[in-house]
Amino acid sequence: MRYVSTRGQAPVLGFDDAMLAGLARDGGLYVPETVPQIPAHEIADLAGIGYERTAFAVMQPFVGGTISDAELYGAIERAYAGFAHAARAPLVQIGENDWILELHHGPTLAFKDFAMQLIGQLFELVLGRRGQRVTIVGATSGDTGSAAIEAFRGLDAVDVFILYPHGRVSEIQRRQMTTPTEANVHAIAVEGDFDDCQALVKAMFNDHAFRDEMSLAAVNSINWARVLAQVVYYFTAAVSLGAPHRPVSFSVPTGNFGDIFAGHVAKRMGLPIDRLVIATNRNDILHRTVTTGMHVKEGVQPTISPSMDIQISSNFERLLFELLDRDGQAVINLMESLRQQGGFALPETALARLRQEFDSGMATEDETRATIAAMREVTGQVIDPHTAVGVKAAADVRGNAGTPMVVLGTAHAAKFPDAVGQACGVRPVLPARLAHIELARERTTVVPNDLAALQALLRQEARR
Ligand SMILES: *Cc1c(COP(=O)(O)O)cnc(C)c1O
Repeated sequence: MRYVSTRGQAPVLGFDDAMLAGLARDGGLYVPETVPQIPAHEIADLAGIGYERTAFAVMQPFVGGTISDAELYGAIERAYAGFAHAARAPLVQIGENDWILELHHGPTLAFKDFAMQLIGQLFELVLGRRGQRVTIVGATSGDTGSAAIEAFRGLDAVDVFILYPHGRVSEIQRRQMTTPTEANVHAIAVEGDFDDCQALVKAMFNDHAFRDEMSLAAVNSINWARVLAQVVYYFTAAVSLGAPHRPVSFSVPTGNFGDIFAGHVAKRMGLPIDRLVIATNRNDILHRTVTTGMHVKEGVQPTISPSMDIQISSNFERLLFELLDRDGQAVINLMESLRQQGGFALPETALARLRQEFDSGMATEDETRATIAAMREVTGQVIDPHTAVGVKAAADVRGNAGTPMVVLGTAHAAKFPDAVGQACGVRPVLPARLAHIELARERTTVVPNDLAALQALLRQEARR
């Protein structure tokens, strides 16, 4: 499979190079040249074969040619071996025909583990084969950093540096980043906010000499390999509920549009998905896009579902590329207007196509809290605020009750104990397998918000 950029001006790459590159050189995102189809009888054959074998069947056509079947299956097995549930992504019933797909059984209790754990294994494989090493640098407001550290800790070919805003992540999130003892893991507390961290990462990538010297690599949510890993659980969930013989709908708590774009890919591969519901908190640029056709930035408002507090939804560009008939120049024009004027109007045909496939819903802070409380009362389930946004949006747009509705449960409630406790009166506790981080020694380096200081630290600490 070959990968092309959404802006049409970057080199066409194989899966391995697209994964290592992350962002395309023209500023676009890599997408597969074609979408492989899985015929209905093969989807039917996925029933009961387990998560790992489904993952292999779904992903193999996308990586073919660059990673052998045995290598891919080995990477999948290692990636998910540490998950705490045999099903990896179990379904929990919350209503007559309504379900939560629990994606929080990985090592850091959020769905990002599904992609990060696999990408860690694939990086090790591809780099080992080439005799290369990389320095991964990323900024985090919480979940992404811990998932990346968990995925890359102890790997030979990789050093990982995660920048987080000093004093501004939750205690659990910080401890997840600062307690791993492996020498290739570096949690860095920047004296600044999340935007400062992100600006520092960008500046390091834009310093091309430094970037080459350190072999910098990124594993943020625009990396195609991350999206691909997320396609898998749409298949396992839908097949459990009767696909390919009956369609299934999904409601997806959305920030960067990565998780829900994976659902769109599953549908294009032939999985009978009826509706895809874009669920947002008050940072609702995507909900407004679906309802008004205007994609316009507003300021970010902090919420109790912080992993969706985003105003630039990077992966939406991948959908735009499809909605605009894969016209790279048209994508460039809209992204330019987003950058310069803060927004754009979707062309009419593109908007019609968007609405054909997607619904959307928004939850205010009060609605999110009320949903957490109602879930606890009605079903006994204690859900996290991101998942609650998905439940609320699903209820808003619930059409055909005969079609199963699956809400993606994106995080464990114990990652957000204060908000959940306040909403429903039950303060969720960390699963036993994570309890040790509350006592373990922390290791972190505090740096000023200063590019030169940070670059000096990386030069000193990274193995090359
Ligand atoms: C990252 C994240 C999201 C948003 O996912 P996107 O792929 O960015 O849309 C939702 N919930 C949780 C808990 C997350 O960590």
